Amino acid sequence: MPTIFHKILRHEIPATVVFEDDEVMAFKDIHPKAATHLLFIAKKDADFVPSIADLTDATAHVPGLLIRKAQTFAKEQGIDGYKLMFHVGKSGGQEVFMLHLHFLSEKKLNV
Ligand code: 5GP
Repeated sequence: MPTIFHKILRHEIPATVVFEDDEVMAFKDIHPKAATHLLFIAKKDADFVPSIADLTDATAHVPGLLIRKAQTFAKEQGIDGYKLMFHVGKSGGQEVFMLHLHFLSEKKLNV
């Protein structure tokens, strides 16, 4: 079932996109819990995973991809301290069931 993040990915609803390449998109969380609060999602159909709880051998690379892009993005932005987080399942605080990596930092973005 398409989530709100699928719609953001297809540019059907607006979001403040801060990073995008052919594999990953990152945009600002609408209810930020830090000076910088971003969400990283994978763009490829084959990589769409609802939650960490749904990972298989075929999709096990996706969290690593999101973390790697977040790491590169942080370096480019000069952000040396940040938190990375996955909420897993409703009881783990997950609201949107398209895998996403939370990126939180007290450093402000220059974009
Ligand atoms: P979860 O709790 O599923 O790990 O995180 C979902 C996040 O998506 C929440 O932090 C929430 O604030 C954010 N969010 C929900 N709807 C929207 C939206 O329409 N646009 C943006 N940019 N963020 C959203």
